[in-house]
Amino acid sequence: MATIDIKNLKKVYPGAEDATIKQASLEIEDKEFIVLVGPSGCGKSTLLRMIAGLEDITDGELLIDGNLMNELSPKDRDIAMVFQNYALYPHMTVFENMAFGLKLRKVPKQEIKEKVENAADILGITHLLDRRPKDMSGGQRQRVAIGRSIVRQPKVFLFDEPLSNLDAALRVQMRAEIKKLHRDLNATIVYVTHDQIEAMTMGDRIVVLKDGNVMQFDTPMNLFNNPANKFVAGFIGSPSMNFIEGEIIMESFTTFKSQDLKFSAPPDLRPCLKPYIGRRVIFGFRPEYIYDKAVEKTKRLSESMEIEVQALEPIGSETFVYFHFTGNPNHQFCFRSDSGFAYNIGDKITIGVDIQRLRFFEADTEQRIM
Ligand code: ADP
Repeated sequence: MATIDIKNLKKVYPGAEDATIKQASLEIEDKEFIVLVGPSGCGKSTLLRMIAGLEDITDGELLIDGNLMNELSPKDRDIAMVFQNYALYPHMTVFENMAFGLKLRKVPKQEIKEKVENAADILGITHLLDRRPKDMSGGQRQRVAIGRSIVRQPKVFLFDEPLSNLDAALRVQMRAEIKKLHRDLNATIVYVTHDQIEAMTMGDRIVVLKDGNVMQFDTPMNLFNNPANKFVAGFIGSPSMNFIEGEIIMESFTTFKSQDLKFSAPPDLRPCLKPYIGRRVIFGFRPEYIYDKAVEKTKRLSESMEIEVQALEPIGSETFVYFHFTGNPNHQFCFRSDSGFAYNIGDKITIGVDIQRLRFFEADTEQRIM
């Protein structure tokens, strides 16, 4: 059992003007796999290190299973942390590296042996137990680092960008292995990454951070489909959501108008856009939900929009089509097209966006309009 309650947590580094973590509040449930994601410098590691006890808490409370942790040292928190650089002892074998923490705790020899062998078995590194870190690949070292944390059977595992030093293929493999490990161990995990794909594929829920603020704490699909603000909408998803700033005006219907295009809002959206008449808003639409009207006949699409193809990026399974709206060649957008459908640069196409997928944000606060 390990819940983690973070209540108004704040971190100001000595000598810093601004808080690195502003006022974070998160309720993490037992056995959840939580990912902290955000751009470099947003405070992910700082928040993780506060949970670990490696950084002082400036203000607020951290509770694990309801017990206040603020003043407890890392070793008394029943937590194991896995770092990006593995932090293995170079002169020790894999067995010794994994046994080290248990030895310090004076665990009996036979028990250490059983625990290390069991962890090695789970991670598929039994054949490496006599090797030293320098004789192993990055992926093997990372497994040893994880093994060292498993043997302690902690309540909570903290991972700080553990896959950053691995090549792309190995990262994908380790992603699946860590997910499986999570199921096998039944532990609560908090995992830091700057990679939104890693976050989406691994997390039960994801904390999106920006400048020390929690922008949204939600499931991967909710972040993608129901982003709370423009930052989350743009950060989650690849290629990113397209954005156009414009205003809501009243013509025959509630209408969005910008330099790039003008269209009347679909009926479902009119009530929530009505209060914004005369105000600036941002229209957001994902590359996935744009359709060529000559091809897509079944979906309910928005009013027609005329575009011109500027560049094409075939990636095999599909093609990223970069375009501008007729009338404004300076602003580029993207849509994902079936690779079976061949466009050429300069083609003029009529597109529509799935009307369930149109998103609007307030221009000043960047909060989603719902
Ligand atoms: P992330 O993990 O999201 O890249 P960090 O938590 O490492 O971000 O850092 C967040 C901010 O806090 C950065 O601006 C960084 O410079 C600052 N910071 C990190 N560690 C320290 C420290 N020990 N002293 C002062 N500032 C720090």
